[in-house]
Amino acid sequence: MALCFATSNRHKLEEVRALLPQGYPLLSLEDIGCNIDLPETQNTLEGNAKQKAAYVKEHYGMDCFADDTGLEVDALGGAPGVFSARYAGPSRPQTPSGMALPRVESEKREQANCAKLLQELKGKDHRQASFRTVICLIREREVHYFEGTIAGIIVQKPRGAHGFGYDPVFQPMGHASTFAQMSSQVKNRLSHRGKAIAKLVHFLGPKF
Ligand code: IMP
Repeated sequence: MALCFATSNRHKLEEVRALLPQGYPLLSLEDIGCNIDLPETQNTLEGNAKQKAAYVKEHYGMDCFADDTGLEVDALGGAPGVFSARYAGPSRPQTPSGMALPRVESEKREQANCAKLLQELKGKDHRQASFRTVICLIREREVHYFEGTIAGIIVQKPRGAHGFGYDPVFQPMGHASTFAQMSSQVKNRLSHRGKAIAKLVHFLGPKF
């Protein structure tokens, strides 16, 4: 049965398509005619993931899953965490009621987020951090959560041109490259989202 992945981030969509079994009937927001930036106004990753999945279920009647990711930096007490997308300022024009508004260009915002993070860590030796992804699946009336994490460090300067978001400043533990210096296949094998998706795929089973 077709499942929608509730994201407007094309990088995430490509990553997730590559992680699902070949032929998996995955629909994007565009495929279901949803051209808005989904509301994300909760203060936990679980809450945001559920909010996005529930929006699609309610308005489009589709079984779906959504993810929310936070970068948790030890020396910053776990910040930016759930506020990772809006670390350097409001990420999207969103109403207090959570009403969804048109998508906005995100590349500049992501560069500003990385710049702010490097600034906050300037002169600090303790640069441990981890990415955490929570996926919320709403299938029929049931709600399920899947989590994936990866530990690493925040490098001194951005490196690499692949990926998105904080990829140029995050180097996973035991590796000499940032996520942005890795191919998507290598990143997917290691990443927070890759681990959470593997749990989702296992749950969905061979017949999807
Ligand atoms: P969200 O899950 O799309 O709300 O992401 C929150 C923030 O984390 C955004 O700034 C994303 O760009 C960033 N982010 C999410 N996943 C990744 C990733 O795999 N690599 C780097 N940054 C990410």
